[in-house]
Amino acid sequence: MYRFALVPLLLLLPACAAGQQDKLVINGVSPGSTVVVMMDARTDATASGCRNDLILISAGETSLGNLREPKGCNSEIAIFSRDHAMVLTANKDWWTDKPGDTVTVDLLPRIRVPVSVWVQDDNARLWATMHMTVVETLYRENRVGVEFVASIRNLSEVTTDPRAGQIIENGIVPVAGGHACRNLEEIQKQPFYTPRTLNVYYVNQLIGGRNCAILESAPNCQSAGSFLRGDGNITFVSGLGSSSHTVLAHEFGHAFGLRPAACGGHVDVFPERFGPDNIMWKEGGLERTRLTLGQVFRMHTHRDQWGGTMLIENGLRPGPGRTCPPHLEGYTCPGLDLDWP
Ligand SMILES: [Zn+2]
Repeated sequence: MYRFALVPLLLLLPACAAGQQDKLVINGVSPGSTVVVMMDARTDATASGCRNDLILISAGETSLGNLREPKGCNSEIAIFSRDHAMVLTANKDWWTDKPGDTVTVDLLPRIRVPVSVWVQDDNARLWATMHMTVVETLYRENRVGVEFVASIRNLSEVTTDPRAGQIIENGIVPVAGGHACRNLEEIQKQPFYTPRTLNVYYVNQLIGGRNCAILESAPNCQSAGSFLRGDGNITFVSGLGSSSHTVLAHEFGHAFGLRPAACGGHVDVFPERFGPDNIMWKEGGLERTRLTLGQVFRMHTHRDQWGGTMLIENGLRPGPGRTCPPHLEGYTCPGLDLDWP
């Protein structure tokens, strides 16, 4: 069973006469569409009035009752939509104790995320094209607010070095319990590595997929902190067809900070809270279709010792981000399983 952490917002907001309410105005919502808003605010004048992670659906203009001056409460708004970039903004001056305050937020186009995809033959190119189509669709449906701009190139387009293929194959090696990333420095100095960009390498090995933010997979969350940083911009996928259709959707989740796997980067460590329809379920195919709001929030904000989300690391979102590992929730991080309304 999923634990839906939704709080009906209307129950928390004091009733006010129409026209005297505080309002959130969101400019740019696509006609006929809605966006999902997560707010932290003070909803009443009492000491317990701080409310975090209030969720509502907006078609552009939403009445909010009378929110109060935040004082010690968070005052933050996050907006998620299919057609626009995720918004995260905070301001202690938005709301006063009087009703009638209006906050206006403008939506911006989805973040364009370049992806350098490197293949060694035409078969791998077909897999890459299909995997990119799937990740594009799933990320839009799950309101990640990004748009991938993939450039799929054969190694021979940028190098005549006969060792090029082997340099890539040496980047991922079988180890007990899976695959580990190795020799990434060698790849990073090649013409088939685009700095500060997601790079995907299709290899002639029967692997699933592997993002290299962390060189090796920790066996448990307690020990994960001691595992060495690799390069979150490097992902390996099988060019032999052994990877799932949803492999890039999954590996880009790791690249965008859903890690370490043992701490909830792989949601099957919380089987009571997630099912195999989640994109970050360890193994799976086309049934992996969903990301939660809690996951998407982290994909835009997460900061950790392995480079954090590549959206910030690659300069596509402003930093510095915040430390919201998958297994922690609290004042500044929604629960990983906080779901869409
Ligand atoms: Zn994984």
